[in-house]
Amino acid sequence: MDIILKNANVAHRDEPVRNADIAIKGETIAAVEANITAEAGQTIDCGGRLVSGSLIDAHVHLDAVLAAGLERDNQSGTLHEGIEIWTDFKPKRTVEAIKERARRAIDWEVAQGAGFIRTHADVCDDAQLSTQALVELRDELRDRVDIQIVAFPQVGIKSFPGGEKQMRDSLDMGADVVGGIPHNEVTREAGHASVMFIFDEAEKRGLKIDVHCDEVDDSHARFLEVMVEQTFQRGMGASVTASHCVAMHSYNNAYAYRLMGWVARSELNVTANPFDNIILQAREDSYPKRRGMTRVKELLQAGVNVGIGHDSIMDPWYPLGRGDMVDAASLALHVCQMSGVEEIDTCFDMITWRNAQNLGLENYGVASGAQADLVIFDAASKADVLRINPACTHVFKRGQLVSETKPAESTVMGGRVDFTRGN
Ligand SMILES: [Zn+2]
Repeated sequence: MDIILKNANVAHRDEPVRNADIAIKGETIAAVEANITAEAGQTIDCGGRLVSGSLIDAHVHLDAVLAAGLERDNQSGTLHEGIEIWTDFKPKRTVEAIKERARRAIDWEVAQGAGFIRTHADVCDDAQLSTQALVELRDELRDRVDIQIVAFPQVGIKSFPGGEKQMRDSLDMGADVVGGIPHNEVTREAGHASVMFIFDEAEKRGLKIDVHCDEVDDSHARFLEVMVEQTFQRGMGASVTASHCVAMHSYNNAYAYRLMGWVARSELNVTANPFDNIILQAREDSYPKRRGMTRVKELLQAGVNVGIGHDSIMDPWYPLGRGDMVDAASLALHVCQMSGVEEIDTCFDMITWRNAQNLGLENYGVASGAQADLVIFDAASKADVLRINPACTHVFKRGQLVSETKPAESTVMGGRVDFTRGN
């Protein structure tokens, strides 16, 4: 064996497996059992700490990260001003500068346990700078992270000449997933036509779909039902993701529950993006203010696979963030009122195996035969990961140690502070 992790609490879908050893050979997990006695090049004693499959960021815009303030600050903090700033800034970028900013943000994410990232690349730019930069990075950084690129039409596909060509150009250049933004098209008909274009391209090319869907507070934004219908018609099931879906927050309950049943039956995934949606949505409300998040708890109860994305990291829409998926899950936990014991674990699942299902990852998880993408947390349980947000002491990608973090140590009056509950 190359590496053996001893005495791990293994994070599984259901109950954790306590005090297991994990053997890694090459890029693969060779065994997960009690008391592995084989020789290994390196042995790490986990001391009962939680070992999980890598964290997964299901939705981020790596072509915009760290761009906050470069053109000018977003003074109102609104989505609208963010889009104006982005439009002015976009043509001034270079491929190298995009890559440099993205590389930095990727390393933040990796240091905090992420091994898989699905990024959107803005295709509304004839030069296709975003796609070029991210395709190059996807290959260059393969040793530390797996990246999926979504061809994302920030301005729309059907609402201006050349929109379809820009989408096809990005996909021809190597984008992996077909994106969209139907609620941003000028008319409902254009939005509907854009969804047809997205499904046609995906079907023709054998690609997955991830659409910014109904990311508005308007209860009449109803493109999720169009996506569900097309997912059914074409039998595309779990290869389709609808991101945001915040209009669902404002739907009447009779419609929302009917729709959620259909979403579940279609097997379409939903990605929630708590950082951006909490900051950007419901800006026109007085009080009471809507939370602007999709119905995560109710979707899960209906049997829908829901995952979580970081969305923005210091960009024109959201000036904060450090690429911390545990932070994103913690915000979802609070905003969606998921404080039941099992619900807390589910919030951890949404940045691990549920996102793996969302992204269609095969060979994910802590199991014999899986790709050895692992995180050791300085905490013993999923719930403590969300409560303490501990260091990811060791992060492995394909069996290689790619990141180490020393846990912080606090003392009060000379005594070491222990953030566990004790006995
Ligand atoms: Zn987004």
